[in-house]
Amino acid sequence: MAVGVLALQGSFNEHIAVLKRLGVKGIEIRKAEQLQSVSSLIIPGGESTTMAKLAEFHNLFPALREFVKMGKPVWGTCAGLIFLADKAVGQKTGGQELIGGLNCTVHRNFFGSQIQSFETELAIPEVAAKEGGPPTFRAVFIRAPAILEVGPDVQILADVPASSVITESAESGQKVIVAVKQGNMLATAFHPELTADTRWHSYFLKMVPEFGGTSSMITTTGEGSSFYERPRIDLPVFQ
Ligand code: GLN
Repeated sequence: MAVGVLALQGSFNEHIAVLKRLGVKGIEIRKAEQLQSVSSLIIPGGESTTMAKLAEFHNLFPALREFVKMGKPVWGTCAGLIFLADKAVGQKTGGQELIGGLNCTVHRNFFGSQIQSFETELAIPEVAAKEGGPPTFRAVFIRAPAILEVGPDVQILADVPASSVITESAESGQKVIVAVKQGNMLATAFHPELTADTRWHSYFLKMVPEFGGTSSMITTTGEGSSFYERPRIDLPVFQ
């Protein structure tokens, strides 16, 4: 019972730490053959161009595409979302290779440069309905991408009003999509592995057949239901 975490670069350790809190083992994936030992995969945030270069160097793209095509659950966070998208804009000249499969267009660095990174309380109706807890989630956006458009098969799980963030890329009144689900794929523009709230991780685990029927295990071996009654311990990263 293990979840693979792509460990080429970025916040893979943080994802593995959250999985551990939920009583689930995370396995670092660096080689194509290691994908055979896991039935689901998290692609962390980091720097998607660097990650793509490393994935290319290790000849990982064919195996990653195959993994997605086989319908195995895959969750991309931030740079991982860019990796999963069918199309990305705002890339460096010449672009970068993507795994694809997620029927959407992402915009890299949509909210601006590193200094425009921010935290916000994000309404998460679908995740809160399934996982309980408060209706919002403290989302950390670090030089984050946004999703510009989605195909009809994509479910929008969260968006932010463009007015709540400083961005030149958004038109006023526009809503900016920051979390989606499409079949076996989950994608978030923010970093749920950096905050204490484990609901996105347990939501993803429920997409994995081997964990799907055991949601009680996931919540009780972790922080327990009293977690949400205790004061939040998340530190503000940006204010
Ligand atoms: N801006 C990064 C990229 O384009 C993503 C940042 C992140 O993963 N926090 O790859």
